[in-house]
Amino acid sequence: MAQTMIGAVLPGNSTVELREFPVPHPAQGQVLIKMKASTICGSDIRAIYREHLGKGPEGYRGVISGHEPSGEIVEVGADMRRFKVGDRVLLYHISGCGRCHECRMGYQISCTSPLRAAYGWQRDGGNATYCLAEEADCIAMPDSMSYIDGSCVACGFGTCYEAIRRIGVSGDDTALVVGLGPMGLASLMLARARGATKVIGADVVPERIALAEKLGIADMVIRADENAVDKVREATEGLGCEVAVDCSGVSAGRQLAVRGTRRWGRIVFVGEGGTIELNTSPDLIHDQKTVFGSWVTNLANAEDLVERMPRWNMHPDVTCTHRFSLDQAADAYRTMDEGKCGKVAIVFD
Ligand SMILES: [Zn+2]
Ligand SMILES: [Zn+2]
Repeated sequence: MAQTMIGAVLPGNSTVELREFPVPHPAQGQVLIKMKASTICGSDIRAIYREHLGKGPEGYRGVISGHEPSGEIVEVGADMRRFKVGDRVLLYHISGCGRCHECRMGYQISCTSPLRAAYGWQRDGGNATYCLAEEADCIAMPDSMSYIDGSCVACGFGTCYEAIRRIGVSGDDTALVVGLGPMGLASLMLARARGATKVIGADVVPERIALAEKLGIADMVIRADENAVDKVREATEGLGCEVAVDCSGVSAGRQLAVRGTRRWGRIVFVGEGGTIELNTSPDLIHDQKTVFGSWVTNLANAEDLVERMPRWNMHPDVTCTHRFSLDQAADAYRTMDEGKCGKVAIVFD
C-alpha cells in the first residue's frame, strides 16, 4: 500500500484543495476503507464549501471533506467484532461518544459529547483514497447495492427514510415533497416504497422538475408557484395530501408543504436552514396539523433501510447525475453548488 494519499479539503471561498496525507492505519476497533464512492451533500455546500458557516456539530475543522463515504475494508485494527477485510460498507457519518443516551439509541447525530466527530466535518471523511473509520460506524452493504447507492444512504437517503418514518407514511397516504434536489428525489422514492398511493413533487428550478419527471419517481411534478396549493388539491379530491416532506429549506417551500396537506396532515421538515412564516390558526391549529423536525437518522434505521433496498429494488444511484474523479473534486463541488443537478458523486477506481 502506498504511504501517501490525496485528500480534498474545503478552505472556503468556494474552493477545493487537493493535499497529500499519510495513509492512516487502523488502531483497535478501527478499519481502513478503500474509498469507492463519496457523494456530496447539500450541507457541505451550505455550511463548508462557500464559507465556513457551520457551528457546533456543523463546525468544520479543516479535515478531509466528504460525509457520504462507501468503500471496501482493506485493513483492520485489533479486536474486530463484526467486520473484516473485504467487506463492503458505508459509514453512518457521525462517530459518537458511544455512552450517552442519544448514542445508545444510535442517534450519534444528536450526541453532545466533545468526543463526537462527524466524518468530513471534524474528522477525516471520504474525499480521499482511504478513510479511517470506527468499526461501530460501519454499515454492511448487500451485494446488490452499488457503492454510489451506499454513499447516498450515508446521509441523504438515510435522513429522508427517517423523516418518512417519522410521519408514518403508508398506503393510506398521498405524499407531497417540496424541493427536488437529491433529498427531494430520495423522499419521493421512499414515500412510494413505503406505500404512498400518489406522490407529488414540487420545485421552482426547471432542471430539477425535469429530472424528477425523467426519473419517473413521481405521479405528478408541479412548479412550486402561487398556484401550487390549488394544483395539489386538484390532484387529491380537493383535500390536499395526508403527508408532506419539505426539503426546500425556505419559507415559501415550507408553507407549500403545510398548506398542501389536508386536515390532520403530518408534515416533516428535513431541508436545513432558513425560517418559516405561517398563519398559525388557519395553517396549523384549525386544520389539526402536526409539524415534525427530523435530523439525519440512527444506526438501526440506516441498517433497516439498507436491508429493505433490495426488497424494494431501489437504487439511489439513479438520482446521481454527475460523476467525477477525486482529481476533479473542484468541478464536483461547483456542479453541486450550481444546483441544476441531481446527486453529485466522486468515484474511485
Ligand atoms: Zn449530509
Ligand atoms: Zn454520545
